[in-house]
Amino acid sequence: MDTQQKKPGFHSIRNRILLFSILVTLVPSFGMGWFWFDLSRKATTEKTEQKLVDSAGIVEREISLWFKERNYDLRVFANSFVLLDNLRRYNAEGDSLDPSSAAKHQVHLVNIAKYLTLIQKQFPLYRRLILLDRNGRKLAASDSPDPDRALSFSADWQTRIDASRYFTGEVSFIGKEAAPLMPVGVSLFSGGKDAHLGFLVMEVELHELLPLLRASLPRANGAGAGRIVLFTVDGRPFLAANPPEIRGRQYIAPLQVGKMLATPRRLQAFVDEEETRLVGLASPFSDLPWNLIIAENADEVFAGLNQARDRIVLITLLLTIAIGGTATIVASQIIIPLQALTDGVMQVGRGDLEVTVPILKDDELGLVSGMFNEMVSRLKENQAKLEQMATTDSLTGLANRKQIMADLVAHLEHHRRYGTDFSLLMIDIDYFKRINDSHGHLVGDAVLVQLAQVFKEILRSLDSAGRYGGEEFLIILGQIDNRQALQTAERIRQVVDQHEFVCGEVSIHATVSIGVAGALVEEGSSTGLIDRADKALYEAKAGGRNRVMQG
Ligand code: GH3
Ligand code: MG
Ligand code: MG
Repeated sequence: MDTQQKKPGFHSIRNRILLFSILVTLVPSFGMGWFWFDLSRKATTEKTEQKLVDSAGIVEREISLWFKERNYDLRVFANSFVLLDNLRRYNAEGDSLDPSSAAKHQVHLVNIAKYLTLIQKQFPLYRRLILLDRNGRKLAASDSPDPDRALSFSADWQTRIDASRYFTGEVSFIGKEAAPLMPVGVSLFSGGKDAHLGFLVMEVELHELLPLLRASLPRANGAGAGRIVLFTVDGRPFLAANPPEIRGRQYIAPLQVGKMLATPRRLQAFVDEEETRLVGLASPFSDLPWNLIIAENADEVFAGLNQARDRIVLITLLLTIAIGGTATIVASQIIIPLQALTDGVMQVGRGDLEVTVPILKDDELGLVSGMFNEMVSRLKENQAKLEQMATTDSLTGLANRKQIMADLVAHLEHHRRYGTDFSLLMIDIDYFKRINDSHGHLVGDAVLVQLAQVFKEILRSLDSAGRYGGEEFLIILGQIDNRQALQTAERIRQVVDQHEFVCGEVSIHATVSIGVAGALVEEGSSTGLIDRADKALYEAKAGGRNRVMQG
């Protein structure tokens, strides 16, 4: 049997229990945690998306309202008598222009320019006011540092004009100024709609929209504020609520802008040019050629969620440690008694019955340990009985022939090694057949038993007595010389001679003949010694029995 203790590793019950409990904790916890996290993330995403769509709607409505005011201003300016009258005259005279009236002709435009300058001074929000003729050529403009700067209209602006509405041009920046401008214009009519005189255009400073945008910034306070950026339809940014400096910045990568414009009003996660993580969406304007991108700081949006996730991870880990620890303790409570039991079983397997397994707890393992101990003690008892049966004569309780012969060999061995003296007595009951014949076999047995008792009483612990066969006995007298051995033999003979063998009603007198042989160093085996004792016994018999003879 392999009694080597193997390192159990992951195959040990303790580790399996540990692994199982950790899995049982981790899998459902992380499973539920992930499920919850995913659900919450979706909910947060939807909520944020809705919020940003709403904010974008508000911004668009407010910008639209703001433009209505600009449109109103524009129409007031356009309906001015000074403007319309001078332009009508200018147009009328221009149709029949002769060189003499050229200077007079120009007066109308000068008047208009004065008028426009006056308005511009009063309304600095309008950077330039410009009068265009029916063909879009500039006729007059308010005073400005950049009178020759061209207006930014798309090439086909005139074809796209709806007479009833104001029209807008392209957003542009001038010089080093960061503020963007956008031309807004209306058609000028004299009387009915048929007499088209030209166009009044004003360049609106769009930075006036900033407070409006800022008011709608998601989480406007705080460092990680959101973003609102206005883009032209072709994806150029021109106004941003945070940070406002948009000139020369792309702000959000064009590829990302394109992606967001491709899926309007759908929340996307992205990184701006400052590596800030954002979530936002694009929303196109319905009545302006603009798009709006509104975004929130992703870390802020998901801060609560991430905090909850971290907490779930922490709780799960703590739970795992707690359950792992408990599992280890529980496993140890199983393992320690189990180990003791295993050790006990192995010891018994090796043939060693001197085992007692400690009963540590009053549980199933304690019960098994107790039963194991009981089994071992029974085994021990049975083994002892068997051993006794194998070495003892069942009738007399003395050593049997096999055992006494083994004792003899052991004595001889000791004698040979250490020179310790010992003697062998061969004892035979005289006329035993007669006892049997006259009193029966049972009485004969009783005599044998009582004789053995006599031997036990006389002999010392150094001696051993055994039944050699029938009514013949061998007695080994340890550490004794010949003279003392003869004395002991004589004593035995005398005691037996004087003993009254009582068997029920019957009282019997019996004698023994004894042959004595002392151990000799030169003798190799036990047979020589037995032979000598046997011969001496024979001589004792021949000599008349009830006597001791030395061989
Ligand atoms: P001697 O003096 O020459 O020894 O005569 P003896 O009768 O003792 O010798 P013998 O060998 O003729 O007889 C021995 C008898 O012992 C024969 C046998 O029946 C009896 N005997 C042997 N074993 C037992 C036993 O276990 N119980 C009983 N009751 N008798 C036994
Ligand atoms: Mg005999
Ligand atoms: Mg006899």
